Amino acid sequence: MLELRPGCECCDRDLPPESTEARICSFECTFCASCAESKLGGICPNCGGELVPRPRRSAAKLAKNPPVAQRTFKPLGCAKTA
Ligand SMILES: [Zn+2]
Ligand SMILES: [Zn+2]
Repeated sequence: MLELRPGCECCDRDLPPESTEARICSFECTFCASCAESKLGGICPNCGGELVPRPRRSAAKLAKNPPVAQRTFKPLGCAKTA
């Protein structure tokens, strides 16, 4: 199951499950749209994979399969590409 992470790894901005601003790679590294586009060039800094819009989960499914609570925040991982 896809991990819905609560924030951007670069800027720690909130990315709620219904957000259309979330971008993920195949390993579920999660970024906001502005970091993905302006800082990362659409490429995940952790694994080199492409970042694509995160699919949204319906409210009924969210109740049974809630987003993960733990935040991943790695500003250093983003700095090297800036
Ligand atoms: Zn960000
Ligand atoms: Zn990644």
